Amino acid sequence: MTGTIPPIRVGLGYDTHRLGPGGPLRIGGVDIDCELHSIGHSDADVLLHAITDAILGSVVEEDIGRLFPNNAQENQDRDSTDFLQEAMRRLRHRGMEIVNLDCVILAERPKMAEHIDSMRAVIAEITGAPVDRIGIKAKTGEGTGPIGHGEAISARAVVLVYET
Ligand SMILES: [Zn+2]
Repeated sequence: MTGTIPPIRVGLGYDTHRLGPGGPLRIGGVDIDCELHSIGHSDADVLLHAITDAILGSVVEEDIGRLFPNNAQENQDRDSTDFLQEAMRRLRHRGMEIVNLDCVILAERPKMAEHIDSMRAVIAEITGAPVDRIGIKAKTGEGTGPIGHGEAISARAVVLVYET
């Protein structure tokens, strides 16, 4: 192919938070009843942060840390669905929409399987992407490292976007 670049882009997002005692654990916009919570300035939703950065990255916008600094009062305890909404606003401002999104959550516990459909529904609602185009998988740390020792939670997200 010469001369024409297809009107699609890919974005990659990554995030990690420390875990502390006391629940619930907010992930993917869902509060999971658990003995741990994710520590951060906002609501520390590791999955929504990774997805937000993937979307922003697809159109080479400033990342979540620059748009929503963790030393700003207005971002304290902030609902991360706000961040994802802003990323979608910026994506649409470029005339683009999501083709599909795929994510991995890395956490030793709790068990994520029964909550994944709820997370997909939240993300579909905010992004406007159909649920069957939002993939979420969960993996453990196999007992090793900060993830495996239950000290941290991490997420990766990749998004494909297209020009409408
Ligand atoms: Zn984060």
